[in-house]
Amino acid sequence: MKTDIEIAQNADIKKITEIAEKIGLTEDDIELYGKYKCKINLDVLKKNKSGKKGKLVLVTAINPTAAGEGKSTVTIGLADAMWKEGKKAVIALREPSLGPVFGIKGGAAGGGYAQVVPMEDINLHFTGDMHAITSTNNLLAAAIDNHIHQGNTLGIDSRRIIFKRVIDMNDRALRHIVVGLGGKANGFVREDGFMITVASEIMAILCLSTSLQDLKERMGNILVAYNYEGKPVYAKDLKVQGAMALLMKDAIKPNLVQTLEGTPAIIHGGPFANIAHGCNSILATKMAMELGEIAVTEAGFGADLGAEKFMNIKCRYGNLKPDCVVIVATVRALKNHGGVEKADLNKENIEAVSKGIVNLEKQIENIKKFNVPVVVAINKFVSDTDAEIKVVKDFCDKMGVKAALSEGWEKGGEGGRELAREVLSTMEEEKSEFKVLYDEKDSIKNKIETIAKEIYGADGVDYSIAALKQIKEIESFELDKLPICMAKTQYSLSDNPKLLARPNGFKITVQEVRVSNGAGFIVVLTGNVMTMPGLPKVPAANNMDILESGEIVGLF
Ligand code: ADP
Repeated sequence: MKTDIEIAQNADIKKITEIAEKIGLTEDDIELYGKYKCKINLDVLKKNKSGKKGKLVLVTAINPTAAGEGKSTVTIGLADAMWKEGKKAVIALREPSLGPVFGIKGGAAGGGYAQVVPMEDINLHFTGDMHAITSTNNLLAAAIDNHIHQGNTLGIDSRRIIFKRVIDMNDRALRHIVVGLGGKANGFVREDGFMITVASEIMAILCLSTSLQDLKERMGNILVAYNYEGKPVYAKDLKVQGAMALLMKDAIKPNLVQTLEGTPAIIHGGPFANIAHGCNSILATKMAMELGEIAVTEAGFGADLGAEKFMNIKCRYGNLKPDCVVIVATVRALKNHGGVEKADLNKENIEAVSKGIVNLEKQIENIKKFNVPVVVAINKFVSDTDAEIKVVKDFCDKMGVKAALSEGWEKGGEGGRELAREVLSTMEEEKSEFKVLYDEKDSIKNKIETIAKEIYGADGVDYSIAALKQIKEIESFELDKLPICMAKTQYSLSDNPKLLARPNGFKITVQEVRVSNGAGFIVVLTGNVMTMPGLPKVPAANNMDILESGEIVGLF
């Protein structure tokens, strides 16, 4: 088997103008970034050329194993297969961050024969969106320290500055730093820290904005610090939101690339899936629906986090209504939920699949709570046996849910046709009556409890003393009428990564509650969340190189 990069480098990549043309985009609608990438002008959304909107398919997954369950791979294979079935499908995906690329996770451009290209560019600097977000974030950070240096008329309490600096790199040494050293000319000394760019609120804002104006307004609403009276200080108080929007003028435009089979793929924005909502931009999804008959998009982590936030946050702000949800399951992850250790996942174990399948059962039940039709995609690995796959298919049959094999990784679009047909027929036969799960005007505690009980299957919620104080404070500033963004382990339906399958008789514990007022959600942390990852002992970067010929090696 060839590596992902070997497959990508042998691809018959088409000029991006050709791909754009396939979905009715003219030269005036796009801005070229070389031969194989372009940005799409936002005016395209206003023109409504087709007069009608495409259907929206969300790809999500069961609680994953550490390697991921192949959501991006299935998304790409499914869209490629849709074209083979005669449907114009357009993909909407997240942009990778340099941190994970050089760390352990690897790229985020699909895998095998279901990839987006040029994968080297997509995984590295792409069209510069990450740099724009980094600069925008750091402009605001610089404005805060400068304001204090210049006399601090807002009375910013330097011990209570929430807004941090960012860089798009895994660098643990920057987690806690001291700024302003060196005497009077260099400002006031204070403790600060860096986050990775994808954890920045600016990234979440980019992904939830519906226009440049909306982006500017949201950036102005970022809660950056508290003053000496304990009252909030917002970015707009520092009067930099105009300059911040200016820095984002190109980054706000979605990027167009292609799959190995020439399917148009819009790749735009990539917020963390814990302290943010983990989905590509609303603008990219809307564009995919505008330009295609079917838009296929993805949400990070398992359905209990990714799909829940896609529905309750992204769809709420974007006024989007998914027509179908595809839940990716792998025999390997089901066996893991059934008690099999990672080292033994390649051996047949029918009993473990049957035992672990309750995780899939709960995720199906959850999606049904949003009144959206469900199809299960079994992402096939070469180690899966027919008997194991039969267990999954029979189970879905019993639940009255369609299930199909997805073999995009091995066979490209051809391997996704069974799944594409099931998704298309489901959308014909079943109507989505999408609804969100809670009213954002409800109290913070009620909203958290709804998610914990309905989605996680918890008996209730415990709060730390700090969290209770934070909830009170948010309510006193009337910043509480926002949707909830849960930060929880992706491995379990509970907040304990060791409780696999379908746990019951548990409560979740809320440790901390923060408001991302610009993005427009309340972040609820159920454990320690890493906002600046470190590199492993042997980082993926150690295997990468560029040869004298220009050939790139080791990028997965
Ligand atoms: P997710 O989007 O769920 O994080 P990805 O689609 O990025 O997952 O896939 C995670 C990794 O697993 C990638 O390296 C991909 O190449 C690999 N992968 C996905 N599907 C398969 C498969 N069917 N067989 C083998 N490897 C796969």
